[in-house]
Amino acid sequence: RSNVVPVAPILTKLQKDCATPLPLLRHVADSMAADMRAGLSADTGSDLPMILSYVDSLPTGNEKGLFYALDLGGTNFRVLRVQLGGKDDRVIATEFEQVSIPQEIMFGTSEELFDFIASGLANFAEKEGGNFQLPSGRKREIGFTFSFPVKQTSIDSGILIKWTKGFAVSGTAGKDVVACLNDAMERRGLDMQVSALVNDTVGTLAGARYWDDDVSVAVILGTGTNACYIECVDAIPKLQGHNSTSGRTIINTEWGAFSNGLPLTQFDRDMDAESINPGEQIFEKTISGMYLGEIVRRVLLKMAEAGSLFGEFVLEKLSTPFVLRTPDMSAMQQDNSQDLEVVEAILYKVAGVKSNLNARKIVLEVCDTIVKRGGRLAGAGIVGILQKMADSKGLVSGKRTVVAMDGGLYEHYPQYRIYLQDAVTELLGSEISNNIVIEHTKDGSGIGAALLAATNSKYE
Ligand code: ADP
Repeated sequence: RSNVVPVAPILTKLQKDCATPLPLLRHVADSMAADMRAGLSADTGSDLPMILSYVDSLPTGNEKGLFYALDLGGTNFRVLRVQLGGKDDRVIATEFEQVSIPQEIMFGTSEELFDFIASGLANFAEKEGGNFQLPSGRKREIGFTFSFPVKQTSIDSGILIKWTKGFAVSGTAGKDVVACLNDAMERRGLDMQVSALVNDTVGTLAGARYWDDDVSVAVILGTGTNACYIECVDAIPKLQGHNSTSGRTIINTEWGAFSNGLPLTQFDRDMDAESINPGEQIFEKTISGMYLGEIVRRVLLKMAEAGSLFGEFVLEKLSTPFVLRTPDMSAMQQDNSQDLEVVEAILYKVAGVKSNLNARKIVLEVCDTIVKRGGRLAGAGIVGILQKMADSKGLVSGKRTVVAMDGGLYEHYPQYRIYLQDAVTELLGSEISNNIVIEHTKDGSGIGAALLAATNSKYE
């Protein structure tokens, strides 16, 4: 071809545009803390919604009794029951079931969806065995994890703002989702009640806190990303007429909406412009699992077209949005073979690309550049939260503080985890960062919601 440019300058420019040196990370952490303060002052004027969770009391370990959890956040919903035995016995028994939601329900009416959920819950409740015991005179209480944008109105009510993640159910937006569920349970003749409506990050925090009193932040890094933390009510100017006996409450930051000071490239801007929510969720688009692979694909397409990176490639494949997924990127980066066979195979399989060794090495450099930026920015975001907590005395320096972490990206991508931890250590210095423990909590959110039903029980 004529006008072929070498690949090296494209890579160099990418690395320069994605660089996250310490001063940049510091600026991102400071901006995160500043946006959090602004979001706590008023409902508008900040990127960060800083949503009140109405969760003022966290599990202590003393909870006793039978509680249910219902988790709706994707194409499956999960139901769970747990028998809690208090300080010494803790979790005596637990059982769960997962039900996948048929496509027609995701595109149906609100009544159809909630009837489907109530019937799944009823089937599960019918199978409750002798390990589980409910004191007489009580209804079974449910912690309801609902991971869609909700305007929470109390611990057990919240208005759906809009469906996301492929749901297109008619008639729920603008309604209280707990009332929708209660109505469906009534139609089904199911005598249970929702005691807590929680976001999945809030459930994760509660679940981790049950085992460890030092947990005060929870972060999810999966398909999307979000974070919540424990805040002092005195530090929430927009909170009016809400009394918390503990003086503290959980704030759901919705930090995916953050956007200040991020190092972005043309590839990011193009991906954003072509997305279903242009201009929104910029932090999420830079650090979460749904997008990292797509950014890499866009870079590789440019390298293939402008720089002839690959000898042969199927343009239709490599130009299809989201064909290269973050798990593919991660799998390529785990390839330790001399001639990078795994990289070769994945490139061929997912992108229809034939690569020589040199091209495969460049592909790995691109992956590393994007995962490094994502992991380091996520780390800076966490430090921003810790800084905000420090100024409202939520974080005492020298005290152990645990960040509960959940999500497939963090769980399955070792390089991401390392870059994230590196950024936290660089920003805080080794002495302080020794007291900040980032702990992976697998499926804390399911049990967390049941625990929040217990701490917010109608019978206490
Ligand atoms: P969700 O966030 O969809 O509720 P998960 O927390 O399980 O669910 O996260 C799933 C996401 O994790 C996937 O969309 C993907 O981006 C990421 N992921 C899953 N497996 C891997 C992997 N092996 N390597 C890197 N990322 C992965």
